[in-house]
Amino acid sequence: MSKSNKDIKCSFCGSGKQDTLMLIAGLDAHICDKCVAQANQILSEELVTRKYKSTQSHLTLLKPQEIKTHMDQYVIGQDDAKKVLCVAVYNHYKRLNQKIDKDEIEIEKSNIIMVGETGTGKTLLAKTVAKILNVPFCICDATVLTEAGYVGEDVESILTRLLQAADYDVAAAERGIVYIDEVDKIARKSDNPSITRDVSGEGVQQALLKILEGTMVNVPPQGGRKHPDQKMIAVNTNNILFICGGAFDGIEKKIANRLRTQTVGYKVSRDELSIDLKNLYKYITPQDLRAFGLIPELIGRLPVITHLNPLDRSALLNILTEPRNSLIKQYKKLFDYENISLDFDQEVFEFIVDKAMEFKLGARGLRSICEAIMIDAMFEVPSAKNNPKDLYITLDYAEEKFSKSDIKKLKVA
Ligand code: ADP
Repeated sequence: MSKSNKDIKCSFCGSGKQDTLMLIAGLDAHICDKCVAQANQILSEELVTRKYKSTQSHLTLLKPQEIKTHMDQYVIGQDDAKKVLCVAVYNHYKRLNQKIDKDEIEIEKSNIIMVGETGTGKTLLAKTVAKILNVPFCICDATVLTEAGYVGEDVESILTRLLQAADYDVAAAERGIVYIDEVDKIARKSDNPSITRDVSGEGVQQALLKILEGTMVNVPPQGGRKHPDQKMIAVNTNNILFICGGAFDGIEKKIANRLRTQTVGYKVSRDELSIDLKNLYKYITPQDLRAFGLIPELIGRLPVITHLNPLDRSALLNILTEPRNSLIKQYKKLFDYENISLDFDQEVFEFIVDKAMEFKLGARGLRSICEAIMIDAMFEVPSAKNNPKDLYITLDYAEEKFSKSDIKKLKVA
């Protein structure tokens, strides 16, 4: 005898047909829309947990030297920074794997601060580390942050980005890496506590303290204040590695002053006197960051400090051709798609680097200069009637294309 509509119930929760939006029939059972939704939620939570467990087991970590070997494929030079970064990251992930017993010594977080001229590879280093470790990574700019309640982004927005990078997998985000760029721009404006509040400088430094240290933060998943009704997601920042970077323009003077006062009046050995004036960054200490305007509490939460060296001509030349995804390799690949083998005269590389040095554009300028030289070829060759098999860029060609481009406007005075 078939059941009447009234007798049909959800086999899971027992709701009658009239109490549900929809009842789906199976072989010998029914399931209502609410139970489907609930089952779906249980399933996705379980999948996230399994993924988390599998990422945990993947964290059998590469040794510092292995991390550096990987880094060397992407980042040219900067050996000091690489070494410091590899060790800090290695220790950080050791800390993640530690089981905390009562008497065990707790390893503290090793957040990092990198100091070096713009375009020397700070962001690239942080990005590369995250890629090697296969953890969620995000970059944010300290200049857009303001103290909570003021125009601009709250510091929590940093974690919104990380959550987005982790596809909202909270467990994965909680082991991610955040790169905070231009941290020098939130330096205290003056030593004098002024009448007006320093909401985008010291205020932000204060706000950053907690998340850098490790705390539970309620993060708006969509970010910003535009969605006041959104449900917050709790994120624990205890195991998130923060890497800060900045150019700290003018800090060389403070370093030089300190070195001078250190050496004057004391008997110093010859070694100590031979200071590399071209690269004062390498003598940086927490004291200099403080003199620049970072508050001591913030410096304390960035215990690992390292510097990047300015890029010289030979470094730029290497950057152009050597890294695994160097600019030149990328152009070759682009033409490869058209079945054209692209090649360059060695003098072209020298020309590109000379222009980058002349225009004071650093490594970032290499791209715009290459683009200026290659744009016509990239525009014309794909639709050329007699598609060439090879394309050879000579110095004359490069010079001509460069001189016709607008790039000279970029020249830094
Ligand atoms: P920063 O963060 O120090 O301002 P970036 O890491 O953003 O500089 O570097 C800008 C670009 O210059 C990168 O995308 C990269 O292509 C190139 N670059 C800079 N330094 C290096 C380096 N040491 N090795 C390889 N490429 C580099």
